Amino acid sequence: MEKKYYLSKSRYCNGLQCHKMLWLDEYKSNEKSEVNNDSVLDNGTEVGIVAKDLFGSHIDIKFNTNLQQMIDDTNKALKNKNTIITEASFIYENNFCSVDILVKNDNDFEIYEVKSSTEIKDIYVEDLTYQVYVLKSLGYQIKSANLVYINSNYIRHGNLNLKELFNIEDLTNVVNSKLSLVKDNIKNICDSLNEEEEPKIDLGMHCVTPYECPFFKYCTKKLPEKNVFKLKGLPNKNKFLLYQNNTYSYEDLLETSINKKYKQQIEFELYNKDDYIDKNEIRKFLDTLSYPLYFLDFETFQQAIPKYDGIKPYMQIPFQYFLHYIESKDSKLEHKEFLAESNIDPRRSLAESLVRDIPKDVCTLAYNMSFEKTVIKNLAYLYPDLREHLMNIHDNIKDLMIPFYHRNYYTKDMLGSYSIKYVLPALFPNEDSLNYHNLDLIHNGSEAMNAYANLGNLSEDEQMKVRNNLLKYCELDTFAMVKIWQKLQEQVETINN
Ligand code: SF4
Repeated sequence: MEKKYYLSKSRYCNGLQCHKMLWLDEYKSNEKSEVNNDSVLDNGTEVGIVAKDLFGSHIDIKFNTNLQQMIDDTNKALKNKNTIITEASFIYENNFCSVDILVKNDNDFEIYEVKSSTEIKDIYVEDLTYQVYVLKSLGYQIKSANLVYINSNYIRHGNLNLKELFNIEDLTNVVNSKLSLVKDNIKNICDSLNEEEEPKIDLGMHCVTPYECPFFKYCTKKLPEKNVFKLKGLPNKNKFLLYQNNTYSYEDLLETSINKKYKQQIEFELYNKDDYIDKNEIRKFLDTLSYPLYFLDFETFQQAIPKYDGIKPYMQIPFQYFLHYIESKDSKLEHKEFLAESNIDPRRSLAESLVRDIPKDVCTLAYNMSFEKTVIKNLAYLYPDLREHLMNIHDNIKDLMIPFYHRNYYTKDMLGSYSIKYVLPALFPNEDSLNYHNLDLIHNGSEAMNAYANLGNLSEDEQMKVRNNLLKYCELDTFAMVKIWQKLQEQVETINN
């Protein structure tokens, strides 16, 4: 007998993206890998909580693992003639949904789906259409279906202005045009879930859009280890086209007219080629640098809901930097550091510290400098009294990434990447002190961001520990730059001798 599967908004959307994804989630969930998807962020984030107040006072249906309880609570709330309900929950033939914001006026209903994104995506329309289907099937009269999403141009001044923070788009027409498809979609998804055999669905763009599929590793495990999906920088569209043409092994790819930068990656890995080092180009780059030489790295965080004045949603807010510096050729390496107090707007104190720590007219190195430059430019815009000095630092930044970006220095272990996270272990494979995995607690930028955001919730002792680890992490970032710069110098010295 056929089993009845429950669908929810997210399971319906996953099923639409790929039946196999939902099937694997049901029967082989241990094969799932971690992915960084806004599908995860969109669920129950701070944005959803804040948006509940968008239309004023409301009845909030509390989450309960017993869905029937949520449905009963909703039915009670719906007894009011005119009301606003958040997380109003419904079920129609095993299709469950909670509406983020439901506005009831007499017998008319408006549906509002809240997303933490700053743009409208096709998948959000599908999500809304599913909700309208469930409610209409239950006999509710739906006047409009709307998407609530973040207005990226909003700048906070004083109290949060929810009407300005959120954009509202009426998607009723497009939702209505898709409504007749939902029934068949649900049937197809549930039929597929009832199959004993894994669905035979091949790889394609649906593996990466609208969301990166957590089963990609599983679905590609029969491909040769070196395959087209390992090529860094090649657009996904091209990767899937090559795959669909049965040209996915490195050997086969070499027979195509693929761009020479991808050929280089393939040949280096396939034939175990020696390092490529263009010493003249490296020397030209090093000649653009001068003492005193500073190495700078920022850590930043982003807030979908701006907490401080002058901040836009998702703006990069610096809270920490580390500096290594060398005054002259024979000077020893020194360092300075800044880590803001928690639960404050860190920008002013960071900007003041930065102009104290980096003198005017010195050469400052960053790795992938556009990030550091944007952070400094934003600070200069915000603080006119510090602007001249900050812009002087900004204008004197050079990018240590250049020799790797241009592949003046390339090794097979860089795996086609010029990111410092690949370049560093490729240049220093055996140096434990340069291995981010050997750090305690904080090993990457997002862990640093989360650790800082959470500092205010910790005891004094715990805060001290986390702050020490944040400093160690940021120190490694700039120390890694120093080591890379020294490595480049060594290469050039060998042509001078
Ligand atoms: S990797 Fe692609 S084919 Fe495999 S389950 Fe995910 S979306 Fe479907």
